[in-house]
Amino acid sequence: MTPRVRIAPSPTGNLHIGTARTALFNFLFARKEGGVFIVRIEDTDKERNKPEYEKNIIDGFNWLGIKYDEFYRQSERIDSHKKWLKKLIDENKAYLSKEEEGGNRDEVIRFRNPNRDISFEDTVRGQVSFNTEELGDFVIARSMDEPLYHFAVVVDDFEMNINHVIRGEDHISNTPRQILIQEAIGAPRPKYSHIPLILAKDRSKMSKRHGAVSINEFKDRGFLPEAMVNYLALLGWHPDDDREIFSMKELVEVFDLSRIQKGGAIFDENKLLWVNKEHIKRMPEEERKKIIIEKIIQSEKSKDREWGSGEDLAGKIEPLISERISKWSEVDELMASGDLDYFFEKPVYGASVLNYKGEQEKSDIIRHLNTVGAILQEQDEKELSAEKVKGFIWSYAEKEGRGAVLWPFRVALSGKDKSPDPFVLAQILGKKETSERIKEAVRKIDAETGRK
Ligand code: GLU
Repeated sequence: MTPRVRIAPSPTGNLHIGTARTALFNFLFARKEGGVFIVRIEDTDKERNKPEYEKNIIDGFNWLGIKYDEFYRQSERIDSHKKWLKKLIDENKAYLSKEEEGGNRDEVIRFRNPNRDISFEDTVRGQVSFNTEELGDFVIARSMDEPLYHFAVVVDDFEMNINHVIRGEDHISNTPRQILIQEAIGAPRPKYSHIPLILAKDRSKMSKRHGAVSINEFKDRGFLPEAMVNYLALLGWHPDDDREIFSMKELVEVFDLSRIQKGGAIFDENKLLWVNKEHIKRMPEEERKKIIIEKIIQSEKSKDREWGSGEDLAGKIEPLISERISKWSEVDELMASGDLDYFFEKPVYGASVLNYKGEQEKSDIIRHLNTVGAILQEQDEKELSAEKVKGFIWSYAEKEGRGAVLWPFRVALSGKDKSPDPFVLAQILGKKETSERIKEAVRKIDAETGRK
């Protein structure tokens, strides 16, 4: 039997990570088994539905690469719901009931509950049994034109030949009601897989107060869709080995419904960041470079830079940034943090930072800086790669003490007690800027009073 599965989101909010994860599991299962994946927008709650939420949900699926084979809107299926409601009433399996509510008399349609015990097999949770007596004759429609969720979902699943329902565990207690309705309309029972909820670190249900919960928020914060898909797949599922990084294609190959876990899946933002970093590393290099360089060029720092071409400089510092970030927005954060300002403007610092461990003689610092400056002065501009700079200076540094030579050299270039090594800095700044900064450092030390 070809699996036919669906995600049935209500457009009452932006695409939630829980819905995205459920959609992904349905999609992976359908692709793996050669089945059909359907999106059905459950838009019967007229008060809470909004077209922009439907758009947000569909945009989210597209961004993630969750492609559907068929698309429906529940609101466009009202004639079917009506037909089945009428049939149930005709067969005395449902009835109109007058209700008094807040002084208003209203007519609703209630299901005649046969009050049976209902058991069903859930592929995740095993045998599940419910006593349906306490449900009473539950309401299935507010009027002939207003079917409620339980009724519409059963009619739609039946008419769309859905044979496997994969959905969040919060729906497990809805299942007996839906099975009673299925039996009343003569629909076959689908298979069920109720997947564990996504929980926050404190094991409470993931909600806005824990931070981002909508897919578009993760997109805006600079996560890659490939990483989101990868991480969502690991929320409640894992493969039979310890692999953790997958492309969508690889997930389709290894996904197996029987490996869905029972316990809640804890959302761990640090893990997501790690997964994202791994996907950034796996991107084609040119693509990654392009994105980061563009962000550097767009930054205020780059626009206000004191020399050179913004593009050229961005290309040079891209590798430094690339190894430090886990998501794109961190490029902007790094640029705004001030940590890399010395690439764009002269560093501002006090002379004492130049002194290695605060133990150097003024004359030694000056001697080392002058020597390094003189060595570099002899080199051809085009030759200034980090390895070459290191090659030129290394034997001198070994002789005089690495810290004693390289510390002031590095601080002269960055003005900071922490920064990349001086060889990389010299390569990026180029010969002219490097030698100017060394001279400036010498001036600073010279001007320092009260020391030898
Ligand atoms: N519209 C329901 C929801 O958004 C669908 C539940 C189901 O999959 O049956 O939760």
